[in-house]
Amino acid sequence: MLEKTFPLSSKMRINADHEKLENVSQSHIKFYLKYSSFVFRALKKPSFQKFLNWMLKKEKIEAQTVRVVHVKVLPLRRKNGKGIAGKCDTARGRIQIYPKTMKFCQVFKQKFGRNSLLVYAGNRARAALIHELLHLKYSADEKTVRELAQNYFFIFTQKQPAQSSKALSIYKMIFNAKVSGKKSPPSGSTKSSIRLELNRTCLRASGVFK
Ligand SMILES: [Zn+2]
Repeated sequence: MLEKTFPLSSKMRINADHEKLENVSQSHIKFYLKYSSFVFRALKKPSFQKFLNWMLKKEKIEAQTVRVVHVKVLPLRRKNGKGIAGKCDTARGRIQIYPKTMKFCQVFKQKFGRNSLLVYAGNRARAALIHELLHLKYSADEKTVRELAQNYFFIFTQKQPAQSSKALSIYKMIFNAKVSGKKSPPSGSTKSSIRLELNRTCLRASGVFK
């Protein structure tokens, strides 16, 4: 039933490269499997799927252009060491969403708590999927994709019921964290407002992923 209403929902898969998994410790595998199944559920949530449908219609992107959305189990880094949130193979219609590293998550959890980590991980993946879907239309125009993705993600957070006070902090959290490009949440004084927002998010986020 869900698949008929939300065409993207049926194209989501958790995907692991098995030869890569062989070189990863059991504890890491356990962590990344949990992470990917959490993100998978966050992306399939009807409220988000409904939003994506609306966005695709507004952008006149045919849902058929998307062949598959892979929620990848293991993280991927660029040559410069920065983590990748998502990739889009426009020719094949294949989108890949990557997790943060276990190390990042441990530091994040210690600083901000488990709830904030879940909110962050789920919304980072949502922002990444929005971004990669837009690449289907704007292909290599990274600037346009970034601007639109930021706007659309903001609209999504605004549409969440009874979360208006929290929406802006989620938005700031995703985009500031992304812009800063650090492996762990920054500790400099210039970023203290974000940290404050994160702590607030933690307190108010309990209803987000039910
Ligand atoms: Zn991009």
